[in-house]
Amino acid sequence: MSRNKTLTEALLEGRKRLAHKENGGWDAMQLLLAAAGCSRVYLMTEGNTEMTEEAAQKYAAFLNEREGGRPLQYILGECEFMGLPFFVGEGVLIPRADTEILVETVLERAEREGLKTGLDLGTGSGCIPISLEKVGGLTMTAVDISPRALDYAQRNAARNEAGVRFLFGDLFHPLTEGETFDFIVSNPPYIPHGDLAALMEEVRDHEPENALDGGSDGLDFYRRILAESGPYLREGGWMFFEMGYDQGPALMELMKEAGFVCVECRKDLAGLDRVVLGKRKEV
Ligand code: GLN
Repeated sequence: MSRNKTLTEALLEGRKRLAHKENGGWDAMQLLLAAAGCSRVYLMTEGNTEMTEEAAQKYAAFLNEREGGRPLQYILGECEFMGLPFFVGEGVLIPRADTEILVETVLERAEREGLKTGLDLGTGSGCIPISLEKVGGLTMTAVDISPRALDYAQRNAARNEAGVRFLFGDLFHPLTEGETFDFIVSNPPYIPHGDLAALMEEVRDHEPENALDGGSDGLDFYRRILAESGPYLREGGWMFFEMGYDQGPALMELMKEAGFVCVECRKDLAGLDRVVLGKRKEV
């Protein structure tokens, strides 16, 4: 009977098969660790260990899925955001490193301005409110129109022991009249409709379109949120948005038109505009 590959041989094979993918080497290693159920240190020090039949089969299936374009995080079923673990899968947007900039911006401003209660619109996996609660001790309500995403968000809150209140519905609709928040945060769909076809295969063919499609210029959700936020954001409250790299000037203008002051932009790790924030005027 032929033997199975050793861990090191399997890693080399995976690297070769995924070499054409961005971060293919990293993906191969993550898939191998998940299939073999071992740590990175074990892989490095005991690489000559032969894989079990079960692990070898699992790894082969994982590599096939990844070669077929399924995102690494969906195959693993989870990913990390702000140092916390989140379940993900088809139907929910994978948390991005860029969105950590949004969370960091909210944390910093909340501390400075004494903001305590927040509303997250289009929560997806729940990564924003859960990390704001866990890291910043903020009291969060989160809304999503996708039952599938909300199911992930709720399981993620349980996993991280976060007490976020989740509501199902379209933006502000599920809120109680008269309820106000110190701040509103959102990473809404912001890809211009005409740009969807040119997205990476992983994103375009696997991630939910209703988490990406922001209408003809990508700004539809910002317009709606700014127009409808009045009754729910207290005077002097703050608005925080993630946006596309080229939407800064247009979104800052929309914020000012909607009566926000102290409007500013923050850049992501690649040096691109990524976050806009502003304060609702006090009258
Ligand atoms: N940052 C995501 C992407 O480029 C888009 C997320 C969104 O539309 N909110 O795939």
